[in-house]
Amino acid sequence: SRQRLKRLITTEARTQCGRRIELLANIELPDDVKGVVDAGADGVGLFRSEFLFMNRKEWPSEDEQFEAYRKVIKAMKGKPVTVRTLDLGADKTLQFDGANSSAPPVSSTSALGLRSIRFSLAEPAIFLTQIRALLRAAKTGPVKILLPMLTNIRETKQALAYIDMAREQLQERRFQANQVVPIGGMIEVPAAALSLPQFLKYLDYVSIGTNDLIQYTLAVDRVDHQVAHLYDPLHPAVLRLVFEVINSAEKAGVPVSVCGEMAGDIRLTRLLLGMGLTQYSMHPSQLLDVKELLLKTDFDATQKLVRKVTRTFDIEKVDALMRQLHSD
Ligand code: PEP
Ligand code: MG
Repeated sequence: SRQRLKRLITTEARTQCGRRIELLANIELPDDVKGVVDAGADGVGLFRSEFLFMNRKEWPSEDEQFEAYRKVIKAMKGKPVTVRTLDLGADKTLQFDGANSSAPPVSSTSALGLRSIRFSLAEPAIFLTQIRALLRAAKTGPVKILLPMLTNIRETKQALAYIDMAREQLQERRFQANQVVPIGGMIEVPAAALSLPQFLKYLDYVSIGTNDLIQYTLAVDRVDHQVAHLYDPLHPAVLRLVFEVINSAEKAGVPVSVCGEMAGDIRLTRLLLGMGLTQYSMHPSQLLDVKELLLKTDFDATQKLVRKVTRTFDIEKVDALMRQLHSD
């Protein structure tokens, strides 16, 4: 079956009826890009940049980050590379005391604490260094910047202001970095999902981080095995949020992707398709299975069933509809 899937590497991802779907890949370190190229992905949909900062004793310099980003961009040969800015905290911790100033060591922040974009905004020198590296790398190929864990518009505007500041700093150093780099935001906090229209005004695209969106919506720690049975992507509240975000973004003409684990789970591929999703980002090892399923899926029939899924709060009905969705 691996052999059969291999034949799909160069096949464009489309539904049976011809709807083009972009299948992107998630990576943690630059070397992971080989798997992305081998899987024939349409781009990198999520480069979890914090892995460049982990398992080491000091902050990576601007040049070191620039080289890491450039390596990925080069390997992707013109396909887009989405780099998420530092998403430290909770399960992703530093090996050193990260605090440069007033911030507490990031090694001890909780899922609800000063982590992710909150940390970056509390430590502007570190954030600006990363953005400068990214803007420089963006001269070597298509890069998109992705801001994690946005909760309110104030921090979104602050992050955008720092990106402008980084651009000015580069200009002062005579690096030309004034090219347009799309800036997107992760929708992974229920508050952001519920106030999406405001975010769509300031962002060029959004990406749904279902891993955290599920955790925060259901109040279930995603790394606590004792509550793993409560971590449910099919909870009607989660389905509503995911559908609302895909639907509103699409209506507003703002590109939307899903980059959490839901995107690479073939049990959920049709569900997301029926919600209107056209960009999936997943672990490269899942990409061909998702493609194979999409190729034999009819969009209209899927959408019809999924509309029913998004309208019910009855979990038994959800289960029945999900079975129907995969009855062929
Ligand atoms: C997510 O939260 O869904 C996501 C893609 O980011 P991470 O798993 O790195 O938190
Ligand atoms: Mg996340």
